[in-house]
Amino acid sequence: MGLLDPIAGFGVTFKTMFRKTFTQEYPLKPKVTAPRFHGRHQLNRWPDGLEKCVGCELCAWACPADAIYVEGADNVDAVDGEQSGRYSPGERYGRVYQINYLRCILCGLCIEACPTRALTMTNEFELADDSRAKLIYEKQDLLGPLLPGMQEAPHERKLGDDEQAYFLGLPASGRPDDRAGDISSYVPPVMNKGFKKPSETNTS
Ligand code: SF4
Ligand code: SF4
Repeated sequence: MGLLDPIAGFGVTFKTMFRKTFTQEYPLKPKVTAPRFHGRHQLNRWPDGLEKCVGCELCAWACPADAIYVEGADNVDAVDGEQSGRYSPGERYGRVYQINYLRCILCGLCIEACPTRALTMTNEFELADDSRAKLIYEKQDLLGPLLPGMQEAPHERKLGDDEQAYFLGLPASGRPDDRAGDISSYVPPVMNKGFKKPSETNTS
């Protein structure tokens, strides 16, 4: 070791002291993700609270990691004051919906496959947990929050008479003044801060 080597070494230290710091103060200051970041999934609702998922399983078939499990079932309309068995506007709904985050690689192919935009991805990336079982998210973990004007399913359709009416935003027939039929003011769900297993839709 030459005589000047320690001086050169301290010189590097001295220069580094004035460089920009790249250390992130996570989790005190969480990193802001890109708008189209692929984070935790969300199952979306119509503005009256019915679910957009129709239980078609296309997302499960599209998944390269076999991370999604779906079981569809028929919706049942209320008859003579009975409790409604309707969870989505159409014929079927997703009775069981699971995403296994032990397998998911957050590629987004499932949301591309979804025909109703029921499935989207949020910006939430804090998915770690303390058991393997907790990383299999059930439907109730994935459903979007109930926003003002929404009612938890099951209940009858409030925005139209069929699935097409919901897609097109047609008012419910015979109820022209029913504001529930007007989705022009509908704002898609955003970051769901209060939810244990997190947030909103980016549509990438
Ligand atoms: Fe499967 Fe990719 Fe969707 Fe994850 S993001 S559930 S790996 S298709
Ligand atoms: Fe079908 Fe979409 Fe529901 Fe998957 S999330 S079962 S693709 S409607």
